[in-house]
Amino acid sequence: MSSYEWAVIGAGPAGIAAVGRLLDHGIAPERIAWIDPSFAAGDLGKKWRSVSSNTIAKTFLEYLNASKAFRFSEAPQLPLLEVDPDDTCALELVADPLLWVTDQLRQRVEVFQTKATALYLENRHWQIKTTAQEIASKNVVLAVGAIPKKLDYPQLKEIPVEVALDPDQLAQLPLEGATVAVFGSSHSSMIALPNLLRHPVRKVINFFRHPLKYAVYLDDWILFDDTGLKGRAAEWARENIDGVLPDRLERYSVTSPNFEEKLGECDLVVYTVGFERRKLPATPQWGQLDYNPQNGILAPGLFGLGIAFPEYSVDPYGYGQYRVGLKKFMDYLDSILPLWLVYGT
Ligand SMILES: Cc1cc2nc3c(=O)[nH]c(=O)nc-3n(C[C@H](O)[C@H](O)[C@H](O)COP(=O)(O)OP(=O)(O)OC[C@H]3O[C@@H](n4cnc5c(N)ncnc54)[C@H](O)[C@@H]3O)c2cc1C
Repeated sequence: MSSYEWAVIGAGPAGIAAVGRLLDHGIAPERIAWIDPSFAAGDLGKKWRSVSSNTIAKTFLEYLNASKAFRFSEAPQLPLLEVDPDDTCALELVADPLLWVTDQLRQRVEVFQTKATALYLENRHWQIKTTAQEIASKNVVLAVGAIPKKLDYPQLKEIPVEVALDPDQLAQLPLEGATVAVFGSSHSSMIALPNLLRHPVRKVINFFRHPLKYAVYLDDWILFDDTGLKGRAAEWARENIDGVLPDRLERYSVTSPNFEEKLGECDLVVYTVGFERRKLPATPQWGQLDYNPQNGILAPGLFGLGIAFPEYSVDPYGYGQYRVGLKKFMDYLDSILPLWLVYGT
């Protein structure tokens, strides 16, 4: 059985950051195992390419240039380098550089194109069961990502959020005359709503729980950085939700007395209500493991990173939020990796 010093499970933006930073810290490439079934830049590379980002291009470039091991300065001229660095962009402009970096890293570390199914701690090593083979590693980083949350209204046919956010996929659906429920007031909601209204739907009904929240760019930090609307989504929301509601768009609180009646008018539903951690590899020794949201530790030598295990941090006004985004994963890693390197099995 192969044995490594570090294994990184997941090759989305968080897994890519972890592999890059381990190399930057001098871990020998042949001592790093990298496990993912597809190595396609995670969900950003597969599902969210056409979505407008909430981060400006400059921030993506900071992530891409942060790790020496990424060798991003050697990348060919990519469209991300040509957009206004202070503007948001389609996520595909980030997905392509992530794939380029993935290829660089794959040439150096040991790659296992498979899915991790279970983890056991034995003899101060983690045994990683995969669908193909077993791998042993002193330390493991779980960067397995998250999936969109759903609500339970089985009477309505669901349009998956990745379809609602992709104009090309949405155009394949027979939407004429349909009434579509959209739950949520997130970044994704403010992209799904205009996408749907571009089609000959009868109407769209947006069910919400709270007033909208907008990110505010202050001198050296961003208020509601992780929970507030930004970019095109914020612009659209200001004009159309907190401005003048477009024809064919209605909005109701989920606590409104009209809720049941309005839901009864709908044929289709889109859930844009956040994300939940993807199912982890089983850890039968302990059952379900939780993580420390200040340092990512799950167990000795077992750590979590990325949208599945986001850092919880409190802003200067005392507002706490989970930090999700490429640059935030990298910054967080910079603060916790020195700890992970000494908190082994
Ligand atoms: C609508 C939308 C807009 C966004 N806009 C921005 C933005 O503007 N700026 C920004 O910074 N970010 C943005 N993001 C991306 C966001 O930062 C995501 O949180 C990020 O892509 C998550 O990366 P990840 O690596 O944690 O997870 P993922 O991208 O989900 O990657 C997880 C990887 O782990 C693999 N995996 C899972 N389980 C296993 C297993 N058992 N064994 C092996 N491999 C496994 C998966 O195959 C996948 O490749 C956006 C996301 C969405 C949905």
